[in-house]
Amino acid sequence: MNVLSYPHPALRVKARPVTTLDAAVIQAGREMLELMYKQEGLGLAAQQVGLDYQILVINFQGDPACPEQEVVAINPVILESKGSEKGREGCLSFPGLYQDIRRAKMVRVQYYDLTGKPFEMTCTGLPARIWQHEIDHLNGVLFIDKMGPLARMGSKKAIEDFVTSFRKKQEKGDIPPDVEMKL
Ligand SMILES: [Zn+2]
Repeated sequence: MNVLSYPHPALRVKARPVTTLDAAVIQAGREMLELMYKQEGLGLAAQQVGLDYQILVINFQGDPACPEQEVVAINPVILESKGSEKGREGCLSFPGLYQDIRRAKMVRVQYYDLTGKPFEMTCTGLPARIWQHEIDHLNGVLFIDKMGPLARMGSKKAIEDFVTSFRKKQEKGDIPPDVEMKL
């Protein structure tokens, strides 16, 4: 398992709901947590590792020493969101790119853990931002889609570089050449 970089087409796939919590899903959750910590991220969603079902992992502090901050969420949905605020955001699929993104200030989220137990969580600030970013991934939505005109302008070069580097990898054969490019 490794983190796919933009513009890998897997990032644009809409994930399907999980209907059976089998060993493969549980194993994926564990591996995603490990990978997130290795990459020093705060969250990681299914599409970023090439999976097509609704699973994401978060550690609100990004610290493996704080397992109480850890969430493995199956079929998460935002039940309610309120307010609006801008904040700095990055994404493991866009290494080195950070921009201010406008998000809801507060979200109420429902999800299932790996035992199938339902949970509800209300958060504000950074945790609310992480939930919105990761749930967007499950819908094939990326943080570059949420950028305002200034952030978009400031990211133009970086995004072009991601595309160039992806194409080079395809030419070298590291990534299959027949994938559909979605920009
Ligand atoms: Zn991301």
